[in-house]
Amino acid sequence: MENRVIGRFAPTPSGRMHLGNVLCALLAWLSARSSGGKIVLRLEDLDTHRCPPGAAGQLEDDLLWLGLPWDEGGSLGGPHGPYFQSQCTSYYEEALHTLQRQGLLYPCFCTRAELHAADAPHLSDGRVLYSGKCRHLSAEEIAEKANVHPPAIRLRVPDGRIAFLDRCQGLYTQDLAREFGDFLVRRSDGVFAYQLAVVVDDARMGVTEVVRGRDLLSSTPAQLYLMRMLHLPAPRYAHIPLLLAPDGRRLSKRDGDLSLEALRARFRSPEPILGLLAYLCGLQEKPKPKSAQALLEGFSWEKVRREDIRADFPRLLKKL
Ligand code: GLU
Repeated sequence: MENRVIGRFAPTPSGRMHLGNVLCALLAWLSARSSGGKIVLRLEDLDTHRCPPGAAGQLEDDLLWLGLPWDEGGSLGGPHGPYFQSQCTSYYEEALHTLQRQGLLYPCFCTRAELHAADAPHLSDGRVLYSGKCRHLSAEEIAEKANVHPPAIRLRVPDGRIAFLDRCQGLYTQDLAREFGDFLVRRSDGVFAYQLAVVVDDARMGVTEVVRGRDLLSSTPAQLYLMRMLHLPAPRYAHIPLLLAPDGRRLSKRDGDLSLEALRARFRSPEPILGLLAYLCGLQEKPKPKSAQALLEGFSWEKVRREDIRADFPRLLKKL
């Protein structure tokens, strides 16, 4: 058995990368490469209508421009393909059957309006806690409702807390039933849910460490629970700070001037951008331009700050 660190980039190819995606890719790359490991590129294109043709190729081009080459996956291919989630349905079906056999799944017929009812408790990540309405439907009720509308499939979570040690955020614990609730593994339109797909693919690709945004921290206990039920090994996790605008809003694809398209038009090389990000997340004392390769030296998770990074990014970039 290969006893090597395997990290991954797992972007959704829904448009050009922005600064937040760059920080995530940089830290995933530094973490794997600094321990002699390799990086897998997996394209999370489950929601095919959100992923325009050409976006995955553009993403690869941007990663190469940034100096963040990967070892396996994407158009490079490799032994653990397919690397596009839209082509992995048979693996998700198999996992679904394994969960089904354990009696962990139930069909859910709730409409959007029912799920978002005014009295539904809201969770810290903005989602609503599922009420459990469809947990106890009888076989007759299920057959009757399924005649009208195909159901989504939900996983029943147990009582009790799940804890893990995050390399960036420290100890995180969650009461799965009260703070996350029964969650979807397949939508009513047949598309598999992110929670299931990510767990199946990380294991299938031998991923040993996951680096991703802090927004996904609260999903991790549910994913750990899925791994346990599917008898899959758990990777190590690092949930990194998010980049926020001065008003606390999360940077997104809407901030066009922070997209790779705009950044590549403005900067001849990636060093000023990577140097600024390394400075903001605690890896260097000054925003000195640096390549990813040069940042490998001295990389350590201990240096990476855990709090989100709130800044006027367009202004900071103008000063470079
Ligand atoms: N595909 C997700 C995204 O683009 C990342 C999921 C993950 O890293 O687990 O935000």
